[in-house]
Amino acid sequence: MAISVNYIRILQLVLMLNVSIILGQSIICFSCNKEVEGDYLKVGNKYFHPDHFVCDYCKKPLPAKFMSDNSKYYHSECYAEVKGFKCEYCKKVITNEYMISNNKKYHKSCFEQISPKCKVCEKTLVGTFSVDYYGNKYHSYHENKFPRCTCCNRLITKSITSGGRDYSDGRSICNICFADAIFDQGRISGLLEKVRNKLSSMGISISSAQISISGVSQIELKKVAGDYFSDGVKGFCETNILTTNRSQTKYSHKIYILNGLPAINLES
Ligand SMILES: [Zn+2]
Ligand SMILES: [Zn+2]
Ligand SMILES: [Zn+2]
Ligand SMILES: [Zn+2]
Ligand SMILES: [Zn+2]
Repeated sequence: MAISVNYIRILQLVLMLNVSIILGQSIICFSCNKEVEGDYLKVGNKYFHPDHFVCDYCKKPLPAKFMSDNSKYYHSECYAEVKGFKCEYCKKVITNEYMISNNKKYHKSCFEQISPKCKVCEKTLVGTFSVDYYGNKYHSYHENKFPRCTCCNRLITKSITSGGRDYSDGRSICNICFADAIFDQGRISGLLEKVRNKLSSMGISISSAQISISGVSQIELKKVAGDYFSDGVKGFCETNILTTNRSQTKYSHKIYILNGLPAINLES
């Protein structure tokens, strides 16, 4: 959690006075303790030889605006240096408003540089925010405003997924997934073949007679899957017993898979 702090400014204005003869009163320089004859500076209730009013840090003369702390006087930059008001990011001194995060100080503009930006609105993320599986960070309140992709669960926005589209069966799909989406029954069967080959290279063989696959809409999937259906379900496998004899039972598997899914989803 970052907080914004205002720099404590203790600025005072110098009064430059001509010597005024105050009868019976001599003016003593606060710096050198000697009497001031001629021009002097009055700072608060203290007097200085004009060239004795210097920065306690760099010993150079001070301008009309300066910092004062414990009867010591500083340039604002020197004061920041003395007090350790340095920005963790640019290493330069902080002379006005700054942010504190993890006990470290930052210029406001530097803090903007290092803090994460919302992927949706590009504003700085402060405090708690959402991060999706893919590392996209955004303000949690955006989650109510955008649909989620039914394949990858990303928020469908221009910046995260380059938008997306709605299928007629009510699903929303992001454009990343849609770019690879498969509707064609031929390609779906092709993928089954590919997976079958992969499995058989691993020593698992499935005969094609026992297994079939078809791409369906979410509405159709809901129908075949019945009670097994829920929003995250992308496919359903129906198993039927073909023949049973004493030595073995043969099954047929019918796979229903949502069409319009990316190839990677279908394969799994
Ligand atoms: Zn002096
Ligand atoms: Zn100085
Ligand atoms: Zn900085
Ligand atoms: Zn945002
Ligand atoms: Zn997606």
